Amino acid sequence: MQDTFRHKGLRKQLVEEIRRKGITDVRVLEAMEKIPRHIFMDSSFLEFAYQDKPFPIGSGQTISQPYTVAFQTMLLEASRGLKVLEIGTGSGYQACVLAEMGAKVYSIERQRKLFAKTKLLLESLSWKVQLFLGDGNLGLPKFAPFDRILITAAAPSISTALVDQLKVGGLMVVPFGEGADQTMKRLIKLEDGSLKEEQFGIFRFVPLLGNIGND
Ligand code: SAH
Repeated sequence: MQDTFRHKGLRKQLVEEIRRKGITDVRVLEAMEKIPRHIFMDSSFLEFAYQDKPFPIGSGQTISQPYTVAFQTMLLEASRGLKVLEIGTGSGYQACVLAEMGAKVYSIERQRKLFAKTKLLLESLSWKVQLFLGDGNLGLPKFAPFDRILITAAAPSISTALVDQLKVGGLMVVPFGEGADQTMKRLIKLEDGSLKEEQFGIFRFVPLLGNIGND
């Protein structure tokens, strides 16, 4: 799929809108201006790719709203060379934003069909992201520890596996809670293994589910 002049123009406007909404991290905005969001979306929604809205990506899942992607990425403080684990690959858009910022990205998706579709897409793109099919709650012990962990689905709890796989001094960003709304939390792992928590307002995500699924 092409990235036309029109797409680039629309993307510039979208990034401007996100900046106005309060995202101040220039590195995040620059990365989002580079990633052609429309290629991560189903063709029927192409016209809407550069609106600041979430959209269906099949298998009952959504690509997050651009503002939310920017907000989570800003909280994560990702930078060149850091090892980042993303839970909930979905379309692969967020993973590519992190890769564009120079992070070494590992991403887990539980939904088999979505995993296959996104893997195929990412193979045709230049951003390097390692994709895994599995339950993100288990993390990736083989590749741990991680500097950063980003959960992009609503988490009713945080598994000890994920806490174990976060480096001391590392950050985890997670929309936390069970109901329709979640509180965006940033957790920092302290020397003694405990977590210090900060809160950043209310967001809405699809739920984090257990096991691998075909649903
Ligand atoms: N980051 C994505 C959007 C994520 S939507 C993007 O940029 O497009 C949340 C995703 O989390 C969905 O694809 C859903 O299938 C996945 N998910 C839900 N529970 C999961 C789990 N336990 N492990 C891994 N992925 C999970």
